[in-house]
Amino acid sequence: MKIAFIGLGNMGGPMAQNLARAGHEVTGFDTATVSLQGITTATSATEAVAGAEVVITMLPNGDILRRVADEAIPAMAAGAVFLDCSTVDVDSARAVAEKASAAGLLPLDAPVSGGVGGAQGGTLTFMVGGDEQGFEKAKPLFDIMGQKAVHCGASGNGQAAKICNNMILGITMIGTCEAFALADKLGLDRQAMFDVVSTSSGSSWSMNTYCPAPGVGPKSPADNDYKPGFAADLMLKDLRLAQDAASSADADTPLGAAAMALYATFVEGEDGAGRDFSAMLPRFEKRGHDKG
Ligand code: NAD
Repeated sequence: MKIAFIGLGNMGGPMAQNLARAGHEVTGFDTATVSLQGITTATSATEAVAGAEVVITMLPNGDILRRVADEAIPAMAAGAVFLDCSTVDVDSARAVAEKASAAGLLPLDAPVSGGVGGAQGGTLTFMVGGDEQGFEKAKPLFDIMGQKAVHCGASGNGQAAKICNNMILGITMIGTCEAFALADKLGLDRQAMFDVVSTSSGSSWSMNTYCPAPGVGPKSPADNDYKPGFAADLMLKDLRLAQDAASSADADTPLGAAAMALYATFVEGEDGAGRDFSAMLPRFEKRGHDKG
């Protein structure tokens, strides 16, 4: 397939390379100077998308996606797939999909989970919004870049699934870290805490698979000095998107709001920037009774 890939950063670069390695003809564009083996570099988004059957975007946010889409859509061939894999707000995803559909394209919003490791290893999970025809056309590409693609319904639903999942993840990680810090103060050994909770009703992915306590449970960023992994900054981004969506849909999400406020304090007011999102545990460990 002839594929254009716009946004060749930490995630987009390896995803584009996996497609090229699988034999697809990939032309890439990024505003930064990026040169990747196997990818032909274009000098603009318009140049990259000319004649492409599928255009993939992997960009930082919804505003940039809207700008790139405004440039790319008029230059795309009718019937082509516009596949956005970035994590963006639901409103931007739906607005871009509407424009793409009006231009005779097949839009899909397909944010991912799995991080940079998943992008490199081709083991991402895609949560996909858009119609069936586009999903079927993009399916072989999801199979190369990932291990699973779930069709979640109409345009915007991929982003909805992603932010709902990550809102749960942020909340459970905070809960798990709070509980470890409390257990410490109560004199409960961390290994015993893990052994009980990971096999009891307090278990979760945050505890069982990504345990925030170093030396306990399976290997996780806690065992690597909290180097990400999944950065607290990106968790904050996703929690903000969840709160934006909650206010535009009038949904009641008090714990999502509290998680967002806590990650904002951690990343913007403390030492959380650039650390894994599970570094909430050393943050709680340090806190005395007088602080929030
Ligand atoms: P990144 O900053 O490494 O990459 C984004 C790329 O987009 C950069 O190379 C940048 O130069 C390029 N770009 C910016 N504006 C552009 C434009 N107008 N035209 C073309 N290129 C442009 O970010 P990333 O980590 O690759 O993340 C990309 C997306 O994936 C984000 O939406 C992020 O939330 C999401 N995501 C990231 C992770 C992760 O672990 N890094 C995990 C899941 C989802």
